[in-house]
Formats: sequence, C-alpha cells, structure tokens
Amino acid sequence: MFHEEIKCQICEQTSHLAIECPFVYSECKQCGGIRMIGETNTEKNPNRKFLRCQYANCDEFQWLDESIVDSMSSGALSSPNPK
Ligand SMILES: [Zn+2]
Ligand SMILES: [Zn+2]
Repeated sequence: MFHEEIKCQICEQTSHLAIECPFVYSECKQCGGIRMIGETNTEKNPNRKFLRCQYANCDEFQWLDESIVDSMSSGALSSPNPK
C-alpha cells in the first residue's frame, strides 16, 4: 500500500511535493520582496539552482542548497517547535 518515496523536484527534500515547496517563493531578507528560483547554466556550476530577488537592483543571492541547509539548521521550515 505504500507509495514509492516521493521527493520534491525542486529542492529534493522528501517532506513535501514540488507544488508545496517553500523554496519556490521565499521572502527576500534584504528588501522584503519575493525570491524566485533560477538555474545556472555555466560550466563551473551546471544546473545548480539558486534564489534571486524579484528586483533586479537588489543583490540578494543564495544557492538553493545553502538555503536548504540554513532552513534545516534553524528549523524554520522542517520543525515548528525547535528544541
Ligand atoms: Zn521542495
Ligand atoms: Zn530583495
């Protein structure tokens, strides 16, 4: 009766599906705007996802994998009651 383990196609965590991914749109800490996901296409970082502010003049930038690590260590997304 169990389904295969399904993981988010965006951040590859198993706690949610891509349609519920909290990283698709997250708040920009610098200007309060919305951060959206982009993907690099350079030789150095092929197909690496990053978060970028909606405003071109805002220099907010974070790699998606670093953002995931941040959210896990702070417990903001994965646990509503951090110890
Ligand atoms: Zn996700
Ligand atoms: Zn911003």
